[in-house]
This record gives sequence, C-alpha cells and structure tokens, in this order.
Amino acid sequence: MNRLHKTKVQKINSEHNTIIAVNDVHIGEGYFTVIAGPCALESEELALKTAKAVENSGARIFRCSLFKPRTSPYTYQGYGIEGVNLLKLLHSETNLLLETEILSTDHLDTLAKEADILRIGSRNMDNYELLKAVGKINKPVILKRNMSATLEEFLLAAEYILSVGNEKIILCERGIRTFETYTRNTLDILAVPALKELTHLPVIVDPSHSTGKSSLVPAASKAALAAGADGLMIEVHPDPINSYSDGKQSINIPTFDKLMRELSEMANLLGKKSFSTIHG
Ligand code: PEP
Ligand code: MN
Repeated sequence: MNRLHKTKVQKINSEHNTIIAVNDVHIGEGYFTVIAGPCALESEELALKTAKAVENSGARIFRCSLFKPRTSPYTYQGYGIEGVNLLKLLHSETNLLLETEILSTDHLDTLAKEADILRIGSRNMDNYELLKAVGKINKPVILKRNMSATLEEFLLAAEYILSVGNEKIILCERGIRTFETYTRNTLDILAVPALKELTHLPVIVDPSHSTGKSSLVPAASKAALAAGADGLMIEVHPDPINSYSDGKQSINIPTFDKLMRELSEMANLLGKKSFSTIHG
C-alpha cells in the first residue's frame, strides 16, 4: 500500500476518525446509520410509502435514486433529472435525509441543491472527472467500491475527492466479483476492518448488491455491523416482486422492520452511540 503513504485518506492514528454530521444525523466511528429505500424511484406514491415506512423503522437516510446505471440500455433507467421535484416532496413529507446517485457532472448543481448526500456508484469509481467535480462541493459523497478494485485503488479514488477539498466521503463496500455465482457479488467483509485501519473515513456496507438475494440481506447486514461498519445502505421495496429493478435483492417492509430491531439490539450491545430515533 505504498501509494497511500502521506495521502489525505490515510489514517494517522487510532483516534483519527472522520465523523460526518448532517443536521442531527452522524455517520462514522461510534455510530450506526442506516440508509434505506428502493433501488430506484418508481412513482411518487411508492416513494412516499417506502420513505415513511423506513423512517418509521429507524432509517435516517432515504435512498432515492433518480438515475440507474444499468447493464442493459433496454431496462428501467430511472426518472432522470425531471424527478428532482420528488426530492422536494420527500423533504417536505419526512424528516429523512435524501441520498441519490450522480452519473454525470451535468447534473451536479441540481442534485447537490436538492439532495443531502450524493452517491458515486461502483461503475464510476474510476471516473476521475466526476470524482474531482464532487471533490469541489461541500456535500457528503458515498463512494462505492468498483467490483474489481483493490482496497488501495478504492482509497486512491477517494483521494481524488479529498485532494481537491471535499473531506466528507463515506466508503461503501458493495461486494467484489469472484468465481462464485450463487451470490451476485462476494461481500468482502474483511474490507470493513481493513479500511477502518487504513483510513479515517466512515465505512458502510451495501448488503443488497453484494448478495443479490433478499434472503441473504439480513445476515450480510449483521455481519457488517459485527465487522465494524459505520452503517448500511439497504434496498427496500413494499412489493419487491413488482419492483422495476433489483427486486430479487430488495427486502420488503416487514423484513426491514424486523432487521432494524435486531440491528438495534446488536448496536446497543456493541456500544454504538446512536442507532435510530425509534427503536434505539
Ligand atoms: C446502486 O447502488 O444503485 C448500484 C447500482 O450499485 P453499484 O453501483 O454498487 O453496482
Ligand atoms: Mn439496485
């Protein structure tokens, strides 16, 4: 890991932890913060229903993707930028922070204005112009690990953001490609403690894209908390079978509520300072 020497992402000592605060929501060492919501926003009605349900179960941040990077150009691509009005509506109807994916610098101004947290997906981890662009704004950014990136490459991508000024970066482990095909990706669970010792940045886990199977999401979520993750980003849908995208890995609302109760107990045992407003 020579290339990390003297970088801004590097952890200097065990006390060196960046904690990101947005309003009363904290992300970082000592906290466990859950981001939940559908793979992509589908309709106003579904967005509001899902947001209110995940908020009621203790999530603090709503995953509300307007843009979907899809392998096939013929599958649902998301609402697009016209959907920003939905973000305004969600802000007025809930107390949730809103998190959304950015695919292009063309949308930076609009998305940075309406969303609380931006996400750079795994396919864009190596999009250096996009990394530098979000590096110049004062807004938290979730950076997802590319499915074939080493931890060093992942951290150097984060360095692109940090080096130009934005220190509010949240790293997200979302599974890597291996020879195993039963799961969509292989959750690299040890990436969590490894990243926590290499960098001061918060580390969260995506148990949905890393498994590809809703039945495995609760176990992956608990493993992430046990491994020291600072939070999760989970795909939740009221009717996963009829979801426009990633229905197989989306958990329904009762499953999410049960999982949140279990995670809350675990988080308390582990001495996390905050978990949720409802069950915590
Ligand atoms: C996502 O979070 O919407 C997504 C597409 O995941 P990833 O970028 O990790 O593939
Ligand atoms: Mn998805």
